[in-house]
Amino acid sequence: MWFLIRLILIVILFLLLKRLWDSLAGAVRKEGGLPPRSESSPQALVHDPECGLHLPLGDALTVYHERGTLYFCSRECRDAYLAKLNPPRE
Ligand SMILES: [Zn+2]
Repeated sequence: MWFLIRLILIVILFLLLKRLWDSLAGAVRKEGGLPPRSESSPQALVHDPECGLHLPLGDALTVYHERGTLYFCSRECRDAYLAKLNPPRE
């Protein structure tokens, strides 16, 4: 009888250890590998639609427009482009 109880305890312990091992292995798998390349990294080049310049995202002026996110090299470009997008109404 004691042998049976001991056997059951060993099986339960084994299952618990296996579960712990699986979760540890899964965590390692998740952390491993290269991080996905992000579009929003400061080194990414963006396009200024006003003057056609390509510049690093970190240096660009960002404008959130209804047509999407716009990037400009300078305030002059931004203002000129937005003036064309939204012509003043009379
Ligand atoms: Zn520009």
